[in-house]
Amino acid sequence: MADIDAFVQAEADALVAELSTWCAIPSISSDPGHAADVRRSAEHLAGLMEAAGLAAEVLAVDGGQPAVYAEWLGAGAEAPTITVYGHHDVQPADPLEEWTTPPFEPTVRDGCLHARGASDDKGQIHFQVSAMRHLLAADGRLPVNVKFFVEGEEESGSPTIDAFLGEHARRLACDLILVSDTGMVAEDVPSLVTAMRGLIYFQVDLRTAPVDLHSGSFGGAVPNAVAELVELLAGLKDAAGRIAIPGWYDDVVPLTDEERANFAALPFDPEQFKAVTGVGALPGEEGWSPVERMSGRPTADVNGVWGGFTGVGSKTIIPAEAHAKVSFRLVADQDPARLEPLFARWVRDRVPPHVQVSVRSFGGVKPALTPLDHPGNRAAARAVARAFAKEPLFSREGGSGPERALSDALGAACVYLGVMLPEDRIHAPDERLLLANYYRGVQAAAYALEEFARPEVAAALRAPAG
Ligand SMILES: [Zn+2]
Repeated sequence: MADIDAFVQAEADALVAELSTWCAIPSISSDPGHAADVRRSAEHLAGLMEAAGLAAEVLAVDGGQPAVYAEWLGAGAEAPTITVYGHHDVQPADPLEEWTTPPFEPTVRDGCLHARGASDDKGQIHFQVSAMRHLLAADGRLPVNVKFFVEGEEESGSPTIDAFLGEHARRLACDLILVSDTGMVAEDVPSLVTAMRGLIYFQVDLRTAPVDLHSGSFGGAVPNAVAELVELLAGLKDAAGRIAIPGWYDDVVPLTDEERANFAALPFDPEQFKAVTGVGALPGEEGWSPVERMSGRPTADVNGVWGGFTGVGSKTIIPAEAHAKVSFRLVADQDPARLEPLFARWVRDRVPPHVQVSVRSFGGVKPALTPLDHPGNRAAARAVARAFAKEPLFSREGGSGPERALSDALGAACVYLGVMLPEDRIHAPDERLLLANYYRGVQAAAYALEEFARPEVAAALRAPAG
């Protein structure tokens, strides 16, 4: 039987050295100048997977960056199949002068590996591959069937993932998606993400006249586009901080008592949060804590407003047009396709007939949620408890990724196993990976496969999704 703890101890330095060679490849997907590096990163990862005993290949993506697919399907038809998801591309590294050591010269310092991609997301994929490498070497098998889908353009917003999933859904088919691209709330508070927020984004354009009008000659008798816009936006939320658009909350899955207890147990100090963000208050929807509002409740934000005269000095006009960017974070089970027309109708209903208005949508991302009591979540939580020697909490991630698209395409729930920390400075200079957490990640990944293979878990995962 594989002894994952002994493996991690014996191989600690070798594992970091191996991860470092991968992190040295600047696989920046948003920069066409690094397209060859993204390919090299994919090939390097495929090599690591092959060495671990998985069958791996680089998959070309139509109009996109190469992904890596790998599999080990020797556990038999009765065992569940787990598809591990993550990405091998990274964010741009600038501003370079703010890095203590260069972003693509991985360096161990203060118990952390410093490099772009060390935490997001190469370290998270590497701990999975390392765990499997050890299990395959020691036992000659894995407890469950495993597939990998490691995409190469997550940091560019996964622009081709829908087409890719359409083409490869059968190949990636599984009983559970294990997302390896999230974090824990604190070093001493192991936790598992259970949800990602969705997103819809709009531009609103108002017009009240063909051109700006002189405020002395016309003021008092003509409409003002900026004033109309401000009045519209002011009505977006009611006095209790709720989004005032009819039907907006119809599909919101209520937070369970267990989840609210979890949120309450997460370390959150309002005063410290105010100090970190530099804000003077934490306003929001009444009846919900800031943690709940930031992860489990719908939000509306005005991202920008422009119109009228904004130059130096004064210019006495009545603006003819005004514009705003407005976005909404969504929670399960809100559907962008249902909400977009609700917002557009609300805007049209609120502006008077003398105002021309257009609402443009920039597309949406569906929210994802895996209930706490999903057998996959319970199993992963047991694995994290074993690796971290502490009962984990559950949290929700505020950002919006491709998880729901994966879940819909593959017909399986997402469970999130990741060891990033808030201090890891992902997407920022001096990104780092706390090695102690990485090693526990190797252990947790191995334990998770064991937990997924337990007969009662396996049976629940194999059952057709209800
Ligand atoms: Zn990531």
